[in-house]
Amino acid sequence: MSNIKFYYGNDVPLEMHKVRIVQKLNLPPIERRLDAIAEAGYNTFLLKNRDVFMDMLTDSGVNAMSDKQQAAMMEADDSYAGSGTFTKLENKINEIFGKKYFLPAHQGRACENILSKSFVKKGSVVPMNYHFTTTKSHIVINGGRVEEVFKDEALKITSDDLFKGNMDIAKLRDVIETNGKENIPFVRLEAGTNLIGGQPFSLENMREVRKVCDEYGIILVLDASLLADNLHFIKTREVACKNNSIREITREMADLSDIIYFSARKLGCARGGGICTNNEEIYMKMREYITLYEGFLTYGGMSVREMEAIVVGLDETMDEEMINQGPEFIAYMAKELQKKGVPVVTPPGGLGCHINAMEFVDHIPQKEYPAGALAAALYLVSGVRGMERGTLSEQRDEDGNETYSNMELVRLAMPRRVYTLSQVNYAIDRIAWLYENRKLIGGLKFVEEPSVLRFFFGKLDTTSNWESDLVGKFRADFGDSL
Ligand SMILES: *Cc1c(COP(=O)(O)O)cnc(C)c1O
Repeated sequence: MSNIKFYYGNDVPLEMHKVRIVQKLNLPPIERRLDAIAEAGYNTFLLKNRDVFMDMLTDSGVNAMSDKQQAAMMEADDSYAGSGTFTKLENKINEIFGKKYFLPAHQGRACENILSKSFVKKGSVVPMNYHFTTTKSHIVINGGRVEEVFKDEALKITSDDLFKGNMDIAKLRDVIETNGKENIPFVRLEAGTNLIGGQPFSLENMREVRKVCDEYGIILVLDASLLADNLHFIKTREVACKNNSIREITREMADLSDIIYFSARKLGCARGGGICTNNEEIYMKMREYITLYEGFLTYGGMSVREMEAIVVGLDETMDEEMINQGPEFIAYMAKELQKKGVPVVTPPGGLGCHINAMEFVDHIPQKEYPAGALAAALYLVSGVRGMERGTLSEQRDEDGNETYSNMELVRLAMPRRVYTLSQVNYAIDRIAWLYENRKLIGGLKFVEEPSVLRFFFGKLDTTSNWESDLVGKFRADFGDSL
C-alpha cells in the first residue's frame, strides 16, 4: 500500500483488495438523525445500526473477512471433543508463535478472566504499559491492583514519539522493588496500546522488559489483541527491523513472552480468543478454568466456523499488505484533519483516529462531557458513529464526585477493510465542517445515570437547545443534502 507512488503526486493509501460482497448503507436525513440521537439519550452506544451511516464505534468483531476466511468456514469440523478445526488452530498458533499449548476462549476478556483467576490474588500488583478496561476489572475483581508504567510522552496528545506504548523501564523496576517481586504475578505488555490511541511499543523496549522480568524471575504476558497494528509499526518505524519479515518480528515477540493472549475479534478478523504458552505448568494451571468458564478444551466457547476463520485470519495477519490497511487509512485521516486545523492525537496509531475534544470544544467544561457532546454532534451532522473516551467513560468516586479524565477524546475506529477512501473523505469533510461550527456545540447532562459502566447505558440531554442550532446551520450550508 505505502510503496505505491502516484505519478501526479497526491499519494493516497491504495487498497490491496477488492470488494466482492457488499452491504447497503443507509444515511438518514439530519432531521431523522436528530430524533435518533435524542432517542439514544445523546449516547452513541444506544443508537440503532439502521440510523448509522459509518459505524466507527469499534474495531471489535467488525473487520471485513477475506474470501479465504469465508471459504474456510464452510468446511469446519463440528464436534464437541477432538474437532479437527481445533487441531488446525492449535497448529497455526504453534507455527506463528512457536507455542506448544493453546487454550481457546470465547473472546479477549475471557482470557483475562482465566489469567487473573489463575495468577492474581489479594495484594497482587500487575505492572503494565497501560491498562485496558476489561483487563483492569478482572485484576481488581480478584483482589489485585494495576500499576501503569508508561512514559510521560504516552499521555501527550501531540508528540513525535513513535512508540508511545513503550514501558518506562526505570518505573517498572521501581514498581517491582517497591511492591516486592513475590507480589507481582506477571508483567503485562499490551500491543497497540488501546486506550492511549492504539500506540505501539518497540521490539527493543520489549527486549528490555524481558531482561527485567528475567532478573526478577517474573512472567511476561503479551496482550496481542492489537498485535497486527503493532507489527506494522515495528516494521515501518523501527529502523533495526526494516529488513525483518512480519513473521520474524512476530516470532521474536512471541519468544520474549511466557504467555500470549488475544481477542480474535481483533487479531485474525473473526470472533473468539485464546491463550498460548510453552510452559506446561502454566498451561495445567489455567486448563481447568477453560472447561469451567468457556467450554471443552477443543472449542472454548467458540463456534468451529469462527475458529476456521481465525486460522486463515492469523495467517493473513503475517502479510504486511494486509495489516497496513488500518494504520494507513488512519494516518491519512489524521493528516487530512490536521490540514484543516482539527486537533487529533499524533503520531496516528492503529485502531482509529482520535479527535482531541478538550481542544475542539474548549468552551465546554469537563463537567458537561465535551467528548460525549462532540461524539453526539458528529453523529448528528454526518451519521458517523464514534465513541466517547473521556470523563463519561470514567466512574464517580465514592462521594459521588466526577473523576475527570486525563484526556477527552472522540475515537473514530477504523474497522479493517470495511470503508472505502471516499467514505473516509466524507467523514473528514463533515468533521472539518463541524470544527468550523464548533461554537454551536454545547454540553450534555445526565438524565439517567447508571452507577457502573455509565457510558454504555446512560442517557443524557443537551444543556441548551444547541442541537437545533446545529441542524439549522447544516441546512443553511448544505441545502437539501443528506
Ligand atoms: C478488545 C481488547 C480486549 C478485550 O477483548 P474482547 O474480545 O473485547 O473481550 C483486551 N485487550 C485489548 C488490548 C483489547 O483491545
